Amino acid sequence: MLRSAFRPRSASLHHKQNALAERAGFTEIRRFTMNIDTFTGGVFDTNCFFLKDAAILIDAPQESADWLRRSGHKVDWLLLTHGHIDHISDAAEIQREHSCKIACHPETAPMLSDRNFFRRFGFELEVEPVTPDLLINEAPSFDVAGIDFQVLLVPGHCPGSLCFFEKKERVLFGGDVLFASGVGRWDLPGGDGELLFTGIKTKLFPLGDDVKVFPGHGPATTIGIERKTNPFLT
Ligand SMILES: [Zn+2]
Ligand SMILES: [Zn+2]
Repeated sequence: MLRSAFRPRSASLHHKQNALAERAGFTEIRRFTMNIDTFTGGVFDTNCFFLKDAAILIDAPQESADWLRRSGHKVDWLLLTHGHIDHISDAAEIQREHSCKIACHPETAPMLSDRNFFRRFGFELEVEPVTPDLLINEAPSFDVAGIDFQVLLVPGHCPGSLCFFEKKERVLFGGDVLFASGVGRWDLPGGDGELLFTGIKTKLFPLGDDVKVFPGHGPATTIGIERKTNPFLT
């Protein structure tokens, strides 16, 4: 039950069978983009992305701290798309080991610092608390470690959900908002389907069809593919 609770609707199907295709998807799209290393960890198969040239990690799923250790990556900044446990599990450990700064939306902060946050919603999960160094909100420009992001607030899957749009290479790190052939589930605490669909259509689609989307679960895609074929959005 827990396993499906945080899983996006689309990615729950045929996940293992898609493992190879997913890897291929990232490789193919990454060829045209910046130097990114990808790791998928934890029982929810959550993606995180390490921007090598800037030492920026986006999201901190279970086992990501160990992956960073094995890969020899040194993190200066940890950007969190949202506060669901599968994206923040290793945040405290990573901050301890890398002395990195953590940035997130103000609504994400209580999910990080309150040990019992998820228990109140009936989930028997516990996360090691950690305090963010920087609270960020929607902004046309968020400059961090030499990378120029546009930050978009797209709630509906989770309050305070941020999408990080890297302008130069036109890559969107979207968290659990928009997936290949799916969207983030909206039936978890604080979820709102209308808000989610409206946010995707009014904030993400206008970024442009060519924009590459690296989601929190499943393979990479593009805004154009999802605008034309995503069954939740057409
Ligand atoms: Zn989520
Ligand atoms: Zn997730």
